[in-house]
Amino acid sequence: MRPRVLSGMRPTGALHLGHFHGALKNWVRMQDDYDCFYFVADWHALTTHYEERDVMARHVYDMVIDWIAAGLDPERSTIFIQSRIPEHAELFTLLAMGTPLGWLERVPTYKDQIDKLKDRDLATYGFLGYPLLQAADILIYKAAYVPVGEDQASHVELTREVARRFNHLYGRHKDFDARVAAALARLGRDDVRYFDKQRKAYGETGSAEALAKGEALVRRAAAATDGWTDDDGETLLGHLRGSGRTILPEPQAMHTEVTKLPGLDGAKMSKSYGNAIAMREDPAEVRRKIERMPTDPARVRRGDPGNPEICPVYALHRIYSDAATRDWVVKGCTSAGIGCLDCKQPLVDAILAEQQPWRERAEPYLREPKKVHWIVEMGTERARTVARQTMRDVREAMGLSYG
Ligand code: ATP
Ligand code: MG
Repeated sequence: MRPRVLSGMRPTGALHLGHFHGALKNWVRMQDDYDCFYFVADWHALTTHYEERDVMARHVYDMVIDWIAAGLDPERSTIFIQSRIPEHAELFTLLAMGTPLGWLERVPTYKDQIDKLKDRDLATYGFLGYPLLQAADILIYKAAYVPVGEDQASHVELTREVARRFNHLYGRHKDFDARVAAALARLGRDDVRYFDKQRKAYGETGSAEALAKGEALVRRAAAATDGWTDDDGETLLGHLRGSGRTILPEPQAMHTEVTKLPGLDGAKMSKSYGNAIAMREDPAEVRRKIERMPTDPARVRRGDPGNPEICPVYALHRIYSDAATRDWVVKGCTSAGIGCLDCKQPLVDAILAEQQPWRERAEPYLREPKKVHWIVEMGTERARTVARQTMRDVREAMGLSYG
């Protein structure tokens, strides 16, 4: 089994080139090595867009078409909609019971976003809680990896803390202490002392070295002790990590190389800045947008030399053009050998060429929307099977299986 990766996107508008270069491109690549679960985070969209009830209906399936256009393969990736699997909400609720408020208030994006999105009223319970909903999204599929940009790393960290706490609270058998004592009794006195030393060091300082030493001892014991069972090993590892049995595995943040794509004005491309080119933007519109892009403001007349370093068009050349083209741009611009409109042409061509296969791949789904509905239906069914199993384990661990 390949390790599972989970990621989602909020259906708040047509995807643009920034979404492709910053996220989708990696999603496509990850299909080769991972069991990929990609979901439409419609509930997450509501955390900021709860007043706009027509937003989602317009964008959910359109976004999935953008995903497929970019190269997601529904045969290899599980594509689904968050709200169609209410188990996410159940796990969120159960995790919420034991999650300290301070953990959520301390998430760096919380205050950042409240400051940034001043025009929206985000003093809501849902907005404070959304990193915990994310934790539920991740843990319910026992994802091994979550691809993140820098700003989201703290969310994975929170997810890990939540999982650790959950396993610690509910992962112990009722007779856990007795099992620990029984397993320790099988070890020699020196080993017990050594093991306890590593356990304390790990518990107090989180030392990775102490953890590794403790784990190595358990492995040695497994190989060298008569009558040693897997359960003895599991019990001691749980004791070592202070976690008990692992019901919800801790995911790892996967730091992928992310290209931050600038928009038409040089700032980060974002639909809220009105500086975006949609993935499937009409070709004539792409040309119009690029041709109207501002350039180095010092370059007023055709004969004035320009400075590519401060030109938003050059910022896009850095991503879209090869070395020879960039060289041609720099020489032509700084010597006033080419005009701004000349400089923009290879960029228009490169963007149109990039978009061409997207348009082709999207076409059958636009013509026959049922096809994309069906893909989402299948993915949702696949995801639901996993989510249901996790919830059975969770309910049982929490003492909620009343038969
Ligand atoms: P927008 O910012 O256009 O309003 P959004 O807020 O709905 O879109 P985000 O959550 O900002 O969407 O982005 C979804 C994903 O796309 C994230 O992984 C984000 O890093 C990436 N992304 C968005 N814009 C860009 C960009 N200009 N360059 C690189 N990555 C981007
Ligand atoms: Mg954004």
